Amino acid sequence: MPDWPIHLIVPLLALLIVSKKETQKYILLLLPLAVIPDFDTFATQHRALLHNIFIPLMLLLFGLVIKEYRTIFIIASVYIASHVVLDMFGGGVALFYPVHNGMAFVDASLAMSKTNELLWTLDYGFREYGAGWETAYGYISDSIGTGAMVFVFLAGMCVAYRKWRGI
Ligand SMILES: [Zn+2]
Repeated sequence: MPDWPIHLIVPLLALLIVSKKETQKYILLLLPLAVIPDFDTFATQHRALLHNIFIPLMLLLFGLVIKEYRTIFIIASVYIASHVVLDMFGGGVALFYPVHNGMAFVDASLAMSKTNELLWTLDYGFREYGAGWETAYGYISDSIGTGAMVFVFLAGMCVAYRKWRGI
């Protein structure tokens, strides 16, 4: 399942690619929202309470109605929605909680066998919300994720150094 570095880096990169320069400060300030859904680990409904489609839709709706904060609400919606989608590819989420408790999931992978055959897996649908999720706690970072964060941190340091030196 995705750990926090993936949850942070993927939407950050996507938002920075599509954003205008004046919105980049909001993208950086709102970055912690990308991991907020995992705080439902402390509730009894992990992968349900904060891992559903209704929270990003509500934020999007606020963005459409409240014009002066539109950018902020849309960025917040993208961060939460990206977390939900990534977890859907990593075990599943109760996408329509509390209306429907089924875990929406997508398993999509491509692997190579020892005989150089490509093994494509694609499965999707709903499965029952397992009791295991109620007691599960979020994986913050595995070793690869930590390495990825170090890589991004070093890139950020390079940008800060270039700005400081004016080069
Ligand atoms: Zn999660």
